Amino acid sequence: MNEKVVKNMIWFRRQLRIHDQPLFECFDSGTEGVIGVWVLDPREHTAQVGGFTRTGSHRMRFLLETIAELRAAMRRMGSELIIRIGKPEQILPELTETLGIDRFHFVEEPGSEERSIERAVINRMQTNATGLSPETLLEIEDPGTFARELPEVFSSFRRHVEKRLDYGQPRPAPERLRPVKTPADFESGEIPTLDQLGLFDEVADPRGVMQFRGGESSGLERLEQWMFHGDHLQHYKQTRNEMLGPEYSSKFSPWLAVGALSSRQVAARSFSYEEERTKNESTYWLRFELLWREFFRLHLLKHGASLFHRTGPIDLDLEYRNDPEMFEHWRNGTTGIPLIDANMRELKGTGFMSNRGRQIVASFLSKNMNVDWRWGARWFERCLIDYCPAANWGNWSYSAGVGADPRGFRGFDIARQARSYDPRGDYVAKWLPEEVGHLDGMSRHAPWDHGGPTPVVETSRSLDEARVRWEAASMIHRTRLEGR
Ligand SMILES: Cc1cc2nc3c(=O)[nH]c(=O)nc-3n(C[C@H](O)[C@H](O)[C@H](O)COP(=O)(O)OP(=O)(O)OC[C@H]3O[C@@H](n4cnc5c(N)ncnc54)[C@H](O)[C@@H]3O)c2cc1C
Repeated sequence: MNEKVVKNMIWFRRQLRIHDQPLFECFDSGTEGVIGVWVLDPREHTAQVGGFTRTGSHRMRFLLETIAELRAAMRRMGSELIIRIGKPEQILPELTETLGIDRFHFVEEPGSEERSIERAVINRMQTNATGLSPETLLEIEDPGTFARELPEVFSSFRRHVEKRLDYGQPRPAPERLRPVKTPADFESGEIPTLDQLGLFDEVADPRGVMQFRGGESSGLERLEQWMFHGDHLQHYKQTRNEMLGPEYSSKFSPWLAVGALSSRQVAARSFSYEEERTKNESTYWLRFELLWREFFRLHLLKHGASLFHRTGPIDLDLEYRNDPEMFEHWRNGTTGIPLIDANMRELKGTGFMSNRGRQIVASFLSKNMNVDWRWGARWFERCLIDYCPAANWGNWSYSAGVGADPRGFRGFDIARQARSYDPRGDYVAKWLPEEVGHLDGMSRHAPWDHGGPTPVVETSRSLDEARVRWEAASMIHRTRLEGR
């Protein structure tokens, strides 16, 4: 008599990889069967919010490339990845019924939207379903409980975890998987094309920092190439604020965002680098940045939907003028301020922007232009190939002064940023050859002094006004807190 093989289904969400895969720990790969599933949820990707689709073509291409590679890897291991388009809470219960699945597994996500979908899936599912805790870089036993106690300020979090917690070790991957038998007429589903999803197949601007290709193997290759072959980690702390070229920072973020690369894997390789090559402030600093990522994920888990409100998790009631024309200038890179325009054109043309650039343009939109920071966060969501709800909304609320920031008013002085980070004007000349290419050095940052058009915003006065608005709102906020 044949012994009944337990059938598992694993739902891939933002862990689109084989290495360090928590879902592979949910079953016994030697004796039990497994099949994977990935669902493209139109609410998350093709829906229109604020006048544009939530996922633009650069990000979607990267995601679909990642899925294609994951499917090939699952097949190589002997299993399959089913692909569907629709609402997970409708598709997954049906699918588990059709295939007679015994156990269904997924990894919880920190985002409030993702969590409500998880709950809906579980509520409708007849099969035994298990949600693993959200992925963490550190050994955190129960991220939900940990998040409830999370300090509001990154530096307190960092000091606490560096004293008490270890970095998690990447998990080993099984070599083979036992397949789940599917009926003869069962369709595994095709990977959609950009065209089928209503997206224009845009070619990334060749001026971008690098050509990003989705998928686990490209992510792992980038990790080895940047860290070991190029040996760039040893200088990372000195170069990370630059804006030009492939090497100033790791560029791991697009792979980390979809989970084609795991943060534990990156940290583990940085420790190997320290053993094999050198250990210095830079080698530590990459993990410091990964801790920021970890902090924002826990911060989202703690604050839930309030992170997406205008007043942010700290509930600071800042009002905005919200001039749609200003927003259009910002997102299209036509403000007349080279440092803003170059960064915004890079984002639109390639789906990437440096961390320095992101901080500058975020401060500029919410402070100088007096536009609701969430409009900017949504535009980033659409464009960024590394879009990650926790990092994007966490950083945006921080930049707007309504998030995890202990200090008072923070606004960027654009001229100073230009002097510090693009003193020769090479970055702006690359992205705005017609506007500033004929000028030299710092004059590229002030074309209006050389016959160019006046910018749409006067930078220093608008920043002063923003400070006044922020101080008034903070005073009301403090009074309200004291009155509680
Ligand atoms: C307004 C704004 C929006 C942002 N939106 C996103 C986003 O949607 N997705 C995203 O991954 N990052 C976001 N960031 C953080 C940061 O800009 C990017 O992670 C970084 O620029 C990616 O490039 P890199 O991989 O070369 O980074 P590196 O400098 O090489 O850093 C290594 C890794 O550390 C993590 N990291 C670094 N800085 C941060 C940070 N400030 N917050 C969280 N994680 C960080 C990333 O995973 C990154 O890949 C945002 C920052 C700002 C200011």
